[in-house]
Amino acid sequence: MQNPINKPSRKPVSVTELTAWEYCPRKLFIQKILKLPSKLNRAMLLGKIKHQTIELLSNNEEKIIKNIDKDYDKLDLVLIYEKFIRDLVEKIFQDNRRILEGFNITLEEINKKVMSDFSHDLKLRVSSIKDKLKFGFFKDKLWDSLDSLFISELRLESQEHGLKGRVDRIEIVKSTNEIIPYELKTREERIFHSDEIQLTAYSIMLEEHYRTKVARGFIESGTNKQEIKITEELKKEVLDLIEKIRNIENSPPPAMLSNFNKCRSCEFQEECMKL
Ligand code: SF4
Repeated sequence: MQNPINKPSRKPVSVTELTAWEYCPRKLFIQKILKLPSKLNRAMLLGKIKHQTIELLSNNEEKIIKNIDKDYDKLDLVLIYEKFIRDLVEKIFQDNRRILEGFNITLEEINKKVMSDFSHDLKLRVSSIKDKLKFGFFKDKLWDSLDSLFISELRLESQEHGLKGRVDRIEIVKSTNEIIPYELKTREERIFHSDEIQLTAYSIMLEEHYRTKVARGFIESGTNKQEIKITEELKKEVLDLIEKIRNIENSPPPAMLSNFNKCRSCEFQEECMKL
């Protein structure tokens, strides 16, 4: 059976696998050979719930904006979004109550996490809406007038390259027809090569999805934004990595890292020594 572009069906490689390879190819090999997923922990579960909430919010954002029928001030706009988020969190909490309580995760804790992680995205949205309300754009006209649209937690998949992932945020600038991916980090340090790989992988998928060139992306940490140029060299590197990961299970185990700093916190030290 062939897929629509006449390439054999294959399991897509994830952007998480690309960054895992950048961290340590041998570790990714062990995880794939031994079929060892990372063990679910409290932080991962909280992260998953946050991603799910923001994705649902993004999917409903057009409806939220098209319901804005008067010149609200910024605080009121924040409250409109926050009410929507709290309702989503409540529903997700009830749907997953047993597992969340097993990890002692409370509804309030999830609300706090989502609000805090989404606060900068929320400011961006509220500012661009407020700018248009001042000029009397409401409801459908308000939605149509927004030059920059933000979509958070967008799931992407490239049929052409067999790649999938979820980008933290994209900005769509209607006036210039530009699509800009953002990777949000909590650290303020320098950019790592894995950040460039990650943004390039999203750009490849966005180009296929929107049929337009993606020239740059941003690594954002708080108010600090660093631009990454999406070059042909980076794209080639990502495509080569996809091929390596696709063939990883039929290849010899990758060598151990020469820098043991990463090994100290690796949960597969024992398996690594036995390879
Ligand atoms: S112990 Fe070090 S070399 Fe081995 S898999 Fe873990 S990070 Fe990689």
